[in-house]
Amino acid sequence: METERIIAYFLCMLLVLASRSGVILPCALQDDELCEVSEAETELITEPETTEPTETEPETADETEPEPTEAETVGETEEYVEEVTEPETEPISYVVGTSSAGYPIERVDGITYVGGVLIANKSYSLPSWYNVGGLTPETEAAFSELSSAAELEGLSIYCISGFRSYQTQNSVYWNYVSADGAELADTYSARPGHSEHQTGLALDVNSLYTSFGDTAEGKWLAEHCHEYGFIIRYPADKVDITGYMYEPWHIRYVGKYIAGQIKAQGICLEEYLGITSCYE
Ligand SMILES: [Zn+2]
Repeated sequence: METERIIAYFLCMLLVLASRSGVILPCALQDDELCEVSEAETELITEPETTEPTETEPETADETEPEPTEAETVGETEEYVEEVTEPETEPISYVVGTSSAGYPIERVDGITYVGGVLIANKSYSLPSWYNVGGLTPETEAAFSELSSAAELEGLSIYCISGFRSYQTQNSVYWNYVSADGAELADTYSARPGHSEHQTGLALDVNSLYTSFGDTAEGKWLAEHCHEYGFIIRYPADKVDITGYMYEPWHIRYVGKYIAGQIKAQGICLEEYLGITSCYE
């Protein structure tokens, strides 16, 4: 019995020591603790990980949202600035003076109006971008009336050259210069920007020979074109004022009132408006 008690005591002591040293019972506890710790650790790890992106997501969302709008507005302003240089936006208009006939000389986006009449001559040029793409609708309608009226008289008046762009006039003028020299070319061909054909309000009819003025069509045109709002733009007796040789074939639309005034007074457009026509 004594030895049994000693063995039992010894075993108890062993169990106590073993439990304290964590060999037996804490093994299960350690697993739990490890699991708990590992769970807690993963929670701690994953929590900041998940919170960090959720915190940064809205931040980046907030950052990225304004960024495109800023970029958009920058893009918009850039486009707007580009449009400012183009004639589509509000025209920049200012009066540069008064003509000798008392009409205001207005500049609208580089285009000159004298008393409201668009002018292109040797003194006033059109910007290279000014391109109406053809005769203006009112010019075309008026010329259609004119040619129909002539037809009733048994006369055929037809357009041989209407609208000319700045670029076309550029090549036309320089071809003449290379053939005849600048001094002579300037008497019959406009420098680019100075051609009335660029306005879409002027056209050449039938023939580019001075003799056209002596034909039945030429005579009828000189006598009646004002009734349709046209003038013979470069009359024979106004060469020094218009700056161009006599062109019985070149008519310009100015509207019936002004055309009537010019016809009645026997003057040219420069005289009517009180402006010059000479290169600087
Ligand atoms: Zn012409």
